[in-house]
Amino acid sequence: VPLPETDLTARIRRQARKARAKALVAGIGDDSAVLRLPERHDLLVTTDFSIEGVHFRREWHPADSVGHRCLVRGLSDIAAMGGTPVAAFLSLAVPADLPQDWIDDFVNGLLELAARFKLPLAGGDTSESPGAVTADIIVTGAVPRGTALLRSGARPGDSIYVTGELGASAGVLHALMRGEQIAPNAKAARRHFYPEPRLALGEWLRDRKLASACIDLSDGLSTDLGHLCDESAVGALIYEHSLPRAPLPEALRFGASALHFALHGGEDYELLLTAAPKAKIPERIAKVPVRRIGEVIADKNHRAWLVDSHSQRKPLGRGGWEHFRE
Ligand SMILES: [Mg+2]
Repeated sequence: VPLPETDLTARIRRQARKARAKALVAGIGDDSAVLRLPERHDLLVTTDFSIEGVHFRREWHPADSVGHRCLVRGLSDIAAMGGTPVAAFLSLAVPADLPQDWIDDFVNGLLELAARFKLPLAGGDTSESPGAVTADIIVTGAVPRGTALLRSGARPGDSIYVTGELGASAGVLHALMRGEQIAPNAKAARRHFYPEPRLALGEWLRDRKLASACIDLSDGLSTDLGHLCDESAVGALIYEHSLPRAPLPEALRFGASALHFALHGGEDYELLLTAAPKAKIPERIAKVPVRRIGEVIADKNHRAWLVDSHSQRKPLGRGGWEHFRE
């Protein structure tokens, strides 16, 4: 059973003390947090829900993984903008019969990831939920004025790049849905349970002004590429053979396609970026492989196409990941 609300807030405050940061003038304990940005910086703000039954299941995801994934959703958005995270805020509603241990592990999973980026938990709210565990994470970040990476800067002729490998998270989720037992700490499974936000990579791109547009892959390549094409008013060609596909879990060797997960699977939290043809994008940035997977084309309908090894084009539909709604 969770602690009463005031005790719960006090407990989270004690847990949150681990990470202090220069930018935080006042945090939990005042009516509002006071954040101090470096001079001549823009503030980034992003907010994301993590809802039981939609984004995670208690029977599949350990509480610390739920906390980690909750914060990654926000941190990945800051990474996509080229931002440096400044402070996080958590609003958490839990059912009356939830064990306090679950909440402790959730908060610890979230704070362990936050500590790695010296990110303070600077406030939030707690409440009882009539049903599902519901967490709303707000992450703030900063960029030197005018340098945020936007979705809207891609131009015909630009190259399209992706970081890391795609489809690992969806592969694990698919195995879980099939009733397979997956150890959260197994190397291949960590990409689903403990994904890595690409913050250093985003900052690297921002500082060098090499990317014309950028987005993080939370809903899947086909869907997020679609958002980028819409915002930039362009189309895209994706070369099937150049997609970095994550190997599938053992349990999915048959009847599942690594290409399908790479194209449509969500929650990899890699970055998709575009850059002018003459921009020199290294093969590795901040220790993460970066692959050229396609190019931006002019298309007033903002369509994307998959190009196979025979140079045949097929439309790349936006097959966005619908979490577990089947
Ligand atoms: Mg995003």
